[in-house]
Order: sequence, then C-alpha cells, then structure tokens
Amino acid sequence: MQIVKTCETHGPLTLDLCSVRPASKGRAERLVCKRCRRDTEKKRRTDHKDHVLEGKRASYARNGDSNREKYRQRKHLIPDKIRARNRRYYSENLDAVRDQVREYQRALKVEVLSHYSKGPPICKECGETDLRFLALDHLASDGNHHRKTVIGSSGKGTYLWAKRNGFPELFQVLCHNDNIRKARRAGYTPSRPKTDVLTHYSVGTDPECAECGESDIRVLTIDHIDGGGTKHRATLGSGTSFYLAIRKLGYPIGLQVLCFNHNSGKRCLSGPEVRADER
Ligand SMILES: [Zn+2]
Ligand SMILES: [Zn+2]
Ligand SMILES: [Zn+2]
Repeated sequence: MQIVKTCETHGPLTLDLCSVRPASKGRAERLVCKRCRRDTEKKRRTDHKDHVLEGKRASYARNGDSNREKYRQRKHLIPDKIRARNRRYYSENLDAVRDQVREYQRALKVEVLSHYSKGPPICKECGETDLRFLALDHLASDGNHHRKTVIGSSGKGTYLWAKRNGFPELFQVLCHNDNIRKARRAGYTPSRPKTDVLTHYSVGTDPECAECGESDIRVLTIDHIDGGGTKHRATLGSGTSFYLAIRKLGYPIGLQVLCFNHNSGKRCLSGPEVRADER
C-alpha cells in the first residue's frame, strides 16, 4: 500500500494506519497517525480523569434509563453466533471470569468506601479496617427502602449506584456489627429462645463470638459451621421461630455463635455487603 504520511514516532504510514482528524481550531481536515492518536487520547483520559468521569456521570444521568430501555428492546437482536460465542467463552473460562468479577467488585468497593472514609476504608464507629467487615451504611436508616425504590434489586448495586451518581452524601462506612448496633439501640432484648440458643452454643457462660469474643448480644447470630444456613433457616423459619426450632430439636451440632462481622466476613472474602434479612 502507498505511504501517505510519515510519523515522527512510528515512521512511514499507509492509509490504514491513519485516521482522519476533522477540521478544528482553524486547521483543515488532516490525516493523523492512528497509534499516536490513541496514545494521546489515553493520556488525555488519565490526565483529566475527574473531568472524564464527570462527563460520563452526566451522560449516565441523562441517558441511563433510555439506554437501558433501548438495550432491553434490542437484546434479542444480538446474533445467535455472538450469543453462542459468549456463552462458550463463559463456560470455558468460568474461574477466570469469576475472578475478574470478584476483582472488579473488590476494586469498586475499595474505591467507594475510600471516598466515604476520606482515605483508606474504616468503620466510623469503631475504627475497624478489615475490608471484609465493612459496608456502606445508609445515614437515614432507610437502606432497604432506598435499595428497592432507587437503586434496584440487590445490595451489590449500591456501590455502583453511589459511584455513578457522584457519591451523594447519603452514606457512611460502618462495619457490619456497628451497622446492626445502629438498628438495635441499647435497649434491645433478644427473645428468650434466642438467648437460650446463643448461650448454648457459646464456649463461656454468656453468649460470645467464637472468633473474637464479642459479647454484645445485639450483634451475635447463629452460624452454620459448614454452610447451608440459608436453606436450614428456610426450613425452620426465620427470627424467633428459628431459635424455637433449634431449642426444640435439642440443639443439633454444626452450629456456632459468631458476630455479624465474622459471620458475613466468612461468607464473602471481600464481597458484597451483608443483606438485612437474617438479623
Ligand atoms: Zn505515530
Ligand atoms: Zn465498627
Ligand atoms: Zn467476631
């Protein structure tokens, strides 16, 4: 192919290595080196990260809904070939994809929590810094309502929502224990069956976390040592019925007492925040 231009960095260029730069600032339309242009664009994006992010946020706020709607309407138009290719890629690279997702979620969580902690993520109440124990807390105590009406279905979406909406002043960073403590003010008294069960499964004479010895009964819960807790609770019922059933069954083995930090920290190494259902 014919040489149409010579780049100072990349040498002689054929037409396919050039792109057309439209006329601007009094300069006529001209050919530029594709690779150089890509590098300049990249540099611009890193040098003006905040500005670029702001532009993205504005565009998301303007077009987010209609974009989603457009995608929903046109989803079925994605060619079968591409669909099959994607599906094959996922099934052949499950572990890698999962790692990628986990890493992405971890990075997002760190970014968002760091913003609200104005530095490395830390619990505002007790100074806890273990990422597994930390989550965003709704200042107004209307977390569930806000999640359902504004953010969408799951707790995981909160981090992305906060970032995309320019970190509104609706949140603070709390550890799971302090999040629960906030909901259960000092006067909280657990039901009799719950106290019995927590006492039974604790090593000492009073209920305490098997991992850290936390003894504030407001933040203690029953943990299924080998997992399967959600299913088990579903068969026995939730809240007081669960504890009643455990007592009735004569305290089956496989259970222990953990604080909410250690309970949810165990489930997700650094993953999504704990849901509010089993408190
Ligand atoms: Zn070049
Ligand atoms: Zn805390
Ligand atoms: Zn603990």
